[in-house]
Amino acid sequence: MSILETAEPAWPNLDALRVEALACVRCPLAGTRTQVVFGAGDPNADLVFVGEGPGAEEDKQGIPFVGRAGQLLTRLIEGIGLTRDEVYIANVVKCRPPGNRDPQPDEIEACRPYLEGQLDFLEPRVVVTLGNFATKLLLETKEGITKLRGREFPYRDGTVLIPTFHPAAVLRGGGTALAQVRGDFVVVKRALARATST
Ligand code: URA
Repeated sequence: MSILETAEPAWPNLDALRVEALACVRCPLAGTRTQVVFGAGDPNADLVFVGEGPGAEEDKQGIPFVGRAGQLLTRLIEGIGLTRDEVYIANVVKCRPPGNRDPQPDEIEACRPYLEGQLDFLEPRVVVTLGNFATKLLLETKEGITKLRGREFPYRDGTVLIPTFHPAAVLRGGGTALAQVRGDFVVVKRALARATST
């Protein structure tokens, strides 16, 4: 049963959830991480980004998306008139997979209550999933990101979920991928304006 389906929230607030996550030993990533990268930003944000998992720089600093991919994400956020402090940024797994390998199904499952708990407390209007791992987990789909990106999907009560490419894939993909992700951010901006005007 997911945390969403339980009658009582498992944690009283986002800070309590963070405290528990920072001491987490639910999966083998606890043995190799430097620190848990719980999430960062405005706890009242209307817009939440969900990435895959921390890389080397995030593992060192304890803050999501601070490496090269993070710098691109920051520019994309600023491109729609917001700052990092005005949104919230989280990941599917909160600890760095060694050597930046893909997170494994058991690691994703072990970490899932933290992400769901974050979304419970944040109650965002718009969730942007960055790449395949976040998109497949939250939309419960096997469909790939190329097909899903830039479209709006209903997610939970009154929330819109918009998948886009992971910034690291954009860095590898060059100009075309960058133009596509910029287009997706325009969709995000419009969805946010619509959601916050009601
Ligand atoms: N990639 C991610 O998916 N998350 C981060 O925090 C950094 C890089």
